[in-house]
Amino acid sequence: MPNVTQEQVLAALSQVQDPELRKDLVTLKMIKDIKIEDSKVSFTVELTTPACPLRGQIQKDAENAVLAIDGVDSVNVTMGARVPADDKIKDLTIKNIIAVGSGKGGVGKSTVAVNLAVALAKCGAKVGLMDADIYGPNVPTMMGVESLPPTPQGMKIQPALAYDVKVMSIGFMVSPGQPLIWRGPMLHSAIKQFLNDVDWGDLDYLIVDLPPGTGDVQLSLVQTVPLSGGVIVTMPQKVSFDDAFRAVSMFNKMEVPILGIVENMSYLEMEDGTKRQIFGEGGGEHLASMAGAPLLANIPIDESIRSGGDQGDPVVIADPESQGAKAMMALAESVAARMSMQIRG
Ligand code: ADP
Repeated sequence: MPNVTQEQVLAALSQVQDPELRKDLVTLKMIKDIKIEDSKVSFTVELTTPACPLRGQIQKDAENAVLAIDGVDSVNVTMGARVPADDKIKDLTIKNIIAVGSGKGGVGKSTVAVNLAVALAKCGAKVGLMDADIYGPNVPTMMGVESLPPTPQGMKIQPALAYDVKVMSIGFMVSPGQPLIWRGPMLHSAIKQFLNDVDWGDLDYLIVDLPPGTGDVQLSLVQTVPLSGGVIVTMPQKVSFDDAFRAVSMFNKMEVPILGIVENMSYLEMEDGTKRQIFGEGGGEHLASMAGAPLLANIPIDESIRSGGDQGDPVVIADPESQGAKAMMALAESVAARMSMQIRG
């Protein structure tokens, strides 16, 4: 029986593509720890995100490619992940910062931000969630956290922790029911403090829930935070378009890459399986084509999304089999994939 060599294993794996990054696993430097013992081969495939939807397919393709080598009769593939860091982010232990924005309020921006963060953490990523929505900081309610834990003297501000996500919110800084009047410089320094003085630790993704709209406040936030990418949430109806397109223009103006568009409340699934498009149709697709960005998800109207928000138990945890949760999980995978494509070029 011929001796199997490392070169043969690498040659076989250089025929296996990451379908999203459209390059082979060897060129992408994803292959680690090749071990060969007689006819047994083991190695690790290090993906660019733990939230990779094609994980299973890549594993199978890699396994089959190596099994096809003459002399190999068993292959053991370990799947790992290391999220590439955006080198625009300096002096922070955060690899990617992703903003979730919308042209107006009430479209489900915070709901998407919360479920995106929790879904990424559920996949095994290290995730933080920063609620910068000064007009309605609902993240604490939606994550079921009321306050920050005490910060020991001399230490950085300890974020709250819920569902494996580190949470910081502008809502923790004010008493409930108090009006929030933030002037530009005050907001700027609060956000700077959120970034620099909170004990985020090592994060793969920091999700930022922006205030709705595209005024000065939003613009100054986008300028203050070194954003790796933006996600825009909109609704299907025509009247949402102009507002949502202003959010597209804002990200473009600030040179923040738009990872994609999320159409929320796209349809209501009836008991007989038919879908009713209560809020019209096509808005997300139209916005995506005008923005030159992909439509990442159509999220259904789902009671469990609403109740998860109200009860502080996000749908991806509370009701993972629901249509809403499945759509949110798929969204998180698409966002992670688009983010790594952006970083890898
Ligand atoms: P925004 O941040 O854009 O102002 P929110 O995320 O606060 O919007 O959502 C507004 C309300 O709509 C919340 O009560 C939320 O639970 C509900 N909601 C959002 N998306 C959905 C959905 N897909 N299905 C059902 N309810 C939703």
